[in-house]
Amino acid sequence: MSNLYLFDVDTAVAAECEHRAPNTWDKRKLHVTDLSACTKQVVQRQRGDRETPLTPQDINMFDLANYQHDRVYRALELQKALVFSEQRAMLLPDEWGGTADYGRLLPSGRVRLGDVKTSHPNWVQASSPVDYPKPEHVLQVSTYFHHWDWLNRVYELDEYVEVTYLDRGGANPSRPTVFSPLPAHKVTDKMAALEAWVERAKVNPLDLPPVLPQGVHWGKTWGPVSGELKYGPPWNCRYCHIIDCPNERKDHIVGKITKKKGLEFVPMAKHFEHELYAFLFEKTKRMFSAPDKWLPEGGRL
Ligand code: SF4
Repeated sequence: MSNLYLFDVDTAVAAECEHRAPNTWDKRKLHVTDLSACTKQVVQRQRGDRETPLTPQDINMFDLANYQHDRVYRALELQKALVFSEQRAMLLPDEWGGTADYGRLLPSGRVRLGDVKTSHPNWVQASSPVDYPKPEHVLQVSTYFHHWDWLNRVYELDEYVEVTYLDRGGANPSRPTVFSPLPAHKVTDKMAALEAWVERAKVNPLDLPPVLPQGVHWGKTWGPVSGELKYGPPWNCRYCHIIDCPNERKDHIVGKITKKKGLEFVPMAKHFEHELYAFLFEKTKRMFSAPDKWLPEGGRL
């Protein structure tokens, strides 16, 4: 077997990354994207706690996302609608980082701030139009809007903002969204709350924000009402590099729901039965009943 010389692309790309220009993203700053992230993770990253290095999968994801962003900028440029790409919101305080993806010239002559987001193909397939735009992206683009020094720019800023979702796998159509920015106080309240946590942790390094709550979530989705159910930390923890958090990802498969067999739980699921039913109802708008062997003595759930 040793003469097969399998091409380990992941290792090769990870090595290639080392030759790129240094990453200028400053982890010691607060960033607008931090406003919807796990507060504990942000506080620990920002003060320089130990983190695991990026995996080849992280690198792939960033590379593909960067490529998709560049394609959008080039397409807007060709339409003569690209006013700028990746510009800092200048009115942000110095200790904050945040760049809007693009400004797009509208037929009205105004410029609209927009962002491009790439999503996992499973999520794109399982989601419906009401799942867009995601609240964290509404907050992010609203923050740029309220820190945009439009007075000093040639163009008038449009009253709406937008986020366009692209499937990272490329197989599904894109989803454009347009919405009104959140009121300014919602943005500034969130920024102040995050700054307060950073200050608290400076006074007492052990005074950290709580870990994200564990719960039921789709492990894999195979369709709008079918998939593998898991109990554990939320998806955010999967992308977190903080070392020694109690939430370092440990998922337990608790059930499956398929067209053929319906709902099947594993024994561990009985510890989470109420959360499971609430989750399933929220996601499918259908009621499910427990397998008989699980019914509590003398009654139904
Ligand atoms: S593992 Fe989860 S809870 Fe812990 S810091 Fe990371 S994102 Fe937050």
